[in-house]
Amino acid sequence: MSKTKTIYDVIIIGAGPAGYTAAIYTSRASLKTLMIAGDTPGGQLLLTSEVENFPGFKDGIMGPELMDEMKAQALRFGTEFRADFVTKVELNSKIKKVSVGDEVFESKTVIIATGASANWLGLKNEQRLMGKGISACATCDGFFFTGKHVIVAGGGDSAMEEALTLAKFADKVTIVHRRDEFRASKIMQDRVKEHKKIDIIYNAEVVDVLGDDFVEGVVLKDTQDNKETQLDCGGLFVAIGHTPATKLFEGVLDLDDKKYLISNPDTSTKIDGVFAAGDVSDKRYRQAITAAGEGCKAALEAEHYISS
Ligand code: NAP
Repeated sequence: MSKTKTIYDVIIIGAGPAGYTAAIYTSRASLKTLMIAGDTPGGQLLLTSEVENFPGFKDGIMGPELMDEMKAQALRFGTEFRADFVTKVELNSKIKKVSVGDEVFESKTVIIATGASANWLGLKNEQRLMGKGISACATCDGFFFTGKHVIVAGGGDSAMEEALTLAKFADKVTIVHRRDEFRASKIMQDRVKEHKKIDIIYNAEVVDVLGDDFVEGVVLKDTQDNKETQLDCGGLFVAIGHTPATKLFEGVLDLDDKKYLISNPDTSTKIDGVFAAGDVSDKRYRQAITAAGEGCKAALEAEHYISS
């Protein structure tokens, strides 16, 4: 006797705040939900230490712990969980197919919550000091640098925004940019250049970061004469762009020039029954709480799509 193949109501790809929130909502609404999480479920919050701005945790919560709590909440309502990588998607027909190698899962809807990852400089000591003075999110971590001198690497809008956010806490912020002009919009450049606490070093690259247990300084290389100098600081913020995890969707869904997935404010995409939530389609806010909010929206939209 042949076994009837399960058709899920919802397959969620990705397990950060967007994916887990979507899973909590869909499984609690009795939709048969499968989450395919990749091999490091938890996303970018696994790289942060304390999260102080996620509502509901007045004393803060560690990023990995917050992700464990979200996962447990999704499992409690019946989400099936697989820590595998999706290798292929076929989304155009009414029943969508999501493959993990030879295994093919079928679903009425798909929520894409694969997230994005910050680009890093690739320095010798960068990974070792991650979360110990190195960060890629001033909104998340700026508070911990109160009274310090902080370096921001990058020259785009993100670098300007990081510097302006950090200047609320730090004594001094120095932006280090590899060229002699910023890529950022003029208005953001003007704000940075007018700010009394922000210095700019042009034509320089951060080539290493120093410190035993916490960042104590950086090594800068002048891009014109290749001379190296050391600069004391208490933190390094890397703001050289993010890479959304959208390779799987190239040629399937619309991506913008930076490869972010293009979706509508209600999280729908150009394919009926396919929704996108969180950093995979958000290059502006990139917060756990905004990702969670979008996960909720995507879940409600998926529920609405199935019932109609
Ligand atoms: P971005 O615009 O791609 O800028 C990245 C910056 O990092 C560039 O200045 C680049 O230098 C530098 N960079 C890249 N790789 C580097 C490396 N290995 N070493 C040193 N420097 C490196 O990225 P973004 O600033 O994250 O912005 C992404 C998008 O989001 C943009 O469209 C931006 O306008 C938008 N955004 C908007 C806002 C806002 O409107 N408030 C805020 C944030 C982001 P080069 O210039 O030399 O290439």
